[in-house]
Amino acid sequence: MSSRKDNDVCITALSQLRLGVADLILHSASRWLLMCVFWVAGQLAIADQPVVIAHRGASGYVPEHTLVAKAMAFAMGADYIEQDLVLSKDAVPVVLHDIHLDTVTDVAERFPGRQRADGRFYALDFTLAEMKQLSVTERVNAKTREAVFPARFPAGYTTLQIPSLKEELDLIAGLNKSTGRSVGIYPEIKSPQWHLQQGVDLSRAVLDELHRYGYRTKEDPCWLQCFEMQEVKRLRMELGWQGRLVQLMAGGGKNGDGTDYAYLRSRDGLAEIAKLVDGIGPDISSIIKGKNSQQRHLTTLVVDAHAAGLEVHPYTARSDALPNSVSSLDELHEVLFSQVGVDGLFTDFPDQTAQFLHEKYQPGVSK
Ligand code: CA
Repeated sequence: MSSRKDNDVCITALSQLRLGVADLILHSASRWLLMCVFWVAGQLAIADQPVVIAHRGASGYVPEHTLVAKAMAFAMGADYIEQDLVLSKDAVPVVLHDIHLDTVTDVAERFPGRQRADGRFYALDFTLAEMKQLSVTERVNAKTREAVFPARFPAGYTTLQIPSLKEELDLIAGLNKSTGRSVGIYPEIKSPQWHLQQGVDLSRAVLDELHRYGYRTKEDPCWLQCFEMQEVKRLRMELGWQGRLVQLMAGGGKNGDGTDYAYLRSRDGLAEIAKLVDGIGPDISSIIKGKNSQQRHLTTLVVDAHAAGLEVHPYTARSDALPNSVSSLDELHEVLFSQVGVDGLFTDFPDQTAQFLHEKYQPGVSK
């Protein structure tokens, strides 16, 4: 009896041990599975997180399109850094928002008499070496010469220069290497039709440079953008750009080159442009309407664009130039990211946009 009892005890102990092992395995397996689920969910959340596009760099803090503004944007956690591009007299793509030099530099003092009949100084009339002699300052109104954003960087600082596209791509590549990050670029072809009328081909010059730096396909961290639909078509169909492409859309109706933004914002227009591009860059005013917070209403543009398979990257988030119906930059973030679900945002304040997204998508995780 006693030996049977002992056997029973042994069998019971063994089966308990087996059960314990089985429990342990099951427990471990379920924990592992659960961890996998969390990891995948985390990865999906990160993959779905909208991108921060530093508009002309960290232009809320340092004069736009200077290498200092770009390095600052990089350090502030931007996913993409924007380059507006025009051509110099010696056919070098340079990073400048306008075809004119006079609203962001001291060109009138440095090169008196070099303006055209309309009184404006054109980048296309200056070589890169000449442009390097100019000081880049905060943007001023072309007529009044007053600062467009008075609370931003003060006038009188004279060591900032206009960079070439090459210089900026070298800077971003260098920072990517030294930090181990892969911050992307977001170049814009400015006034391509005007450049063609002047006898030069801006798009070809830009594409040559992008290709040289290895930006070629939709896998590469680059979005190319343009306001002019004819040129968007040309970039894709004639010049063979195979990377990601964005049709920019001004808030109003027709552009000077004939692009009909009112049509492009319609479902038919979005379906048509979706054959050429991967995303749209609309003015925020075509998403958020209303004279004050009580009257605020949202359009269906983002829903319609998503239905057409397009990403949406509106412009521009500025704490010192908010839409009338929004009272803070974070309220704007909340509306755009949480209520309408945009896929990225052009921002003059990349640190604040990155911070908002970090808190929304990875709360509790230190940066
Ligand atoms: Ca731009």
